[in-house]
Amino acid sequence: MTRLYNFSAGPATLPDAVLARIREDIPEWQGLGSSVMEVSHRGAEFMALAAAAEERLRSLLAIPAGYRVLFLQGGASLQFSAVPLNLLRGRETADYVDTGIWSHKALAEAKRYCQAGVAASNAEQADFAIPAQQDWQLNPDAAYLHYTPNETIAGVEFHWIPDSGSVPLVADMSSTILSRPLDIDRFGLIYAGAQKNIGIAGLTVVIVREDLIGEAMACTPGLLDYAVQAKSDSMQNTPCTFAWYVASLVFEWIEAFGGLEAMAEYNRRKAKKLYAAIDASDFYRNPVAHECRSWMNVPFLLADDGLNAAFLEQSKATGLLALKGHRAVGGMRASIYNAMPEAGVDSLIEFMAEFECRA
Ligand SMILES: *Cc1c(COP(=O)(O)O)cnc(C)c1O
Repeated sequence: MTRLYNFSAGPATLPDAVLARIREDIPEWQGLGSSVMEVSHRGAEFMALAAAAEERLRSLLAIPAGYRVLFLQGGASLQFSAVPLNLLRGRETADYVDTGIWSHKALAEAKRYCQAGVAASNAEQADFAIPAQQDWQLNPDAAYLHYTPNETIAGVEFHWIPDSGSVPLVADMSSTILSRPLDIDRFGLIYAGAQKNIGIAGLTVVIVREDLIGEAMACTPGLLDYAVQAKSDSMQNTPCTFAWYVASLVFEWIEAFGGLEAMAEYNRRKAKKLYAAIDASDFYRNPVAHECRSWMNVPFLLADDGLNAAFLEQSKATGLLALKGHRAVGGMRASIYNAMPEAGVDSLIEFMAEFECRA
């Protein structure tokens, strides 16, 4: 069995080089006579790996001093709660930009803890556009402004960073982190589940400005308190050691790739050719406004949705996996994260043209 091109939105494909390293390191890691999954997180070897992973991430993203990097569990979804619990800091409101399903979920969770307001919404554009910032209603009393830079389901991505004034900007970067360089100092907090661009499910990375931590609500579970986790170097309890190890290999792979400038160039090129193929045909259609089309998740609809089942069956038989679109959008979705090779995108484009010809 050979590896096929996997367009899954998450858990998503990993770089072949990373899988090869994992295979090599099992069952025996660093001369310990044991795999990385079976050693203490407090042992010198794992502690060194954890510190090196953080250093690599700091270097890739140029994370300034004054930010803490946390390696947590619970997925991006648990951060929907952790963010208000930690960042409200006695305030009663927070602003949310609602651009799709992941934004809705973050907002719904925040409403448990505060009067979360909708600063802007794309509901009128059926989730397929981003409202211009001049039309946003920002509340000056908000504890923070939350947005979702890449809505994984509709494939809607901000190619700009909102201006939140003096209010800390919070971003759910689960499906776009490490796809390009980022001005970290524009943000108060960034969080991301690992299973798209960082590694495997189980790990959640949080990058948070130091002055925002230490005022969690009294009811905050200790494990969700950023101050508690920062103090214990994300080892308040047993961390997800294997996922942390995989993340460190992915960071190394991105470094070897040439860093985030090179990654961005690659991602831009892959996305551009896929959108060009979709736009050149009347058979396929992408519903997203051009200026906010995602580099990472590319939904496309067949003009005749009676052909969806045949498309999925035949694409799978050709070695192109997991192209079924989310039920909220329908049609197809190709997730082309960092680890999707350009050759995979080329194969998809070729298949799409052949399928159209045959239909
Ligand atoms: C995948 C995803 C999530 C959910 O992540 P979990 O780790 O499953 O909680 C949240 N937000 C965005 C933008 C995502 O792409």
